[in-house]
Amino acid sequence: MRKITSLFIIPSLLSFCGCSVSGQPMQVDEDNASVRDVFAMDTYMYLKAYGDSAEKALDIAVKRILTLDRTFSVKNTNSDTWSINHAEGKAVKVSEDTINLLKTAQEIGSKTNGALDVTSYPLLKAWGFTMDTQQIPDSKTLRAASELVDFRKISLDNDSVCIPNGMQVDFGSLAKGYTSDQVVGILRESGVKSALVNLGGNVHAVGTKPDGTLWKVGVQDPFFPSEQICVLEISDLAVITSGNYERCFTGEDGKEYWHIIDPKDGYPADNGLVSVTIVGESGLFCDALSTALFVLGTEKAIEYWHSEENFEMILVTDDAKLYYTEGLKASIDVSDKYNAEVVFYD
Ligand code: ADP
Ligand code: MG
Repeated sequence: MRKITSLFIIPSLLSFCGCSVSGQPMQVDEDNASVRDVFAMDTYMYLKAYGDSAEKALDIAVKRILTLDRTFSVKNTNSDTWSINHAEGKAVKVSEDTINLLKTAQEIGSKTNGALDVTSYPLLKAWGFTMDTQQIPDSKTLRAASELVDFRKISLDNDSVCIPNGMQVDFGSLAKGYTSDQVVGILRESGVKSALVNLGGNVHAVGTKPDGTLWKVGVQDPFFPSEQICVLEISDLAVITSGNYERCFTGEDGKEYWHIIDPKDGYPADNGLVSVTIVGESGLFCDALSTALFVLGTEKAIEYWHSEENFEMILVTDDAKLYYTEGLKASIDVSDKYNAEVVFYD
């Protein structure tokens, strides 16, 4: 199984020194940024912040990341996710963070007619995406797993959650986006004016670079992962990508299968898109949408964008077409390899 990050920072800003797994203090890179690297949520995370308050703010941010990792982990027996999944139909008390995730999951789930469904975990297990080995499940296994999937059956109270016995949730589609919102919130509250957070390819910027210029964020080419399809110039925004090249395997039938599942048929979503990048203010919404619009496919993703227009997006289709929404016109520089088409406002 491959897991590679989908976004990278340009140019060589990620030349960290003194790496650690738990975010030890006083790591400074060549341009005097304070940096941390953390392994959490099954991915590598890099935080980079400038200014006098950066060191302290990053320490708080790393603690918060590790707490959220413990809270959302589907495998940690002390997590909220574990409690929800093993409650056997009873209501369980969970943290405010989990309630926040579930509320957004319900909202985007409803708006996308179930393309995002955080109860897809039984399907992910059937394909082995939660384990080291994957396989194409037989139709009986897939049918049984599909019957357990329906986010509409999640009931939320102020601080408790109840799902039917057998149903299981997983927050892989939106937990990193929520976490980047939290990290960026901590940095801002601590007085940091310039920072860039990269949570396994989910990028979120605080302000601009210290010299006032915009951050440059490259979006990975789904066909040639060492290259970029475009570079975005941003400040104070999240840039979040879902791609079919992230966690995938070749089945016995020689076909590629990936970790974003279409809850409608239980198969990896194959609706014409190979990558979806969402740009917006909230990491949580961008993350939820990147997964949901990947499932919906090109036409419906564009329809969805027209109905909301409070985010921007870049779509790459399986026949190597690139679409980006009008709001990105001033900030995008597309690689010469692609003939980009702009999706205009109505
Ligand atoms: P990544 O984790 O690579 O950043 P995504 O944000 O697109 O990518 O999330 C993919 C993850 O979401 C999968 O690994 C799985 O845990 C979960 N997932 C897969 N399909 C769905 C779906 N249709 N709805 C909700 N969650 C999903
Ligand atoms: Mg997502």
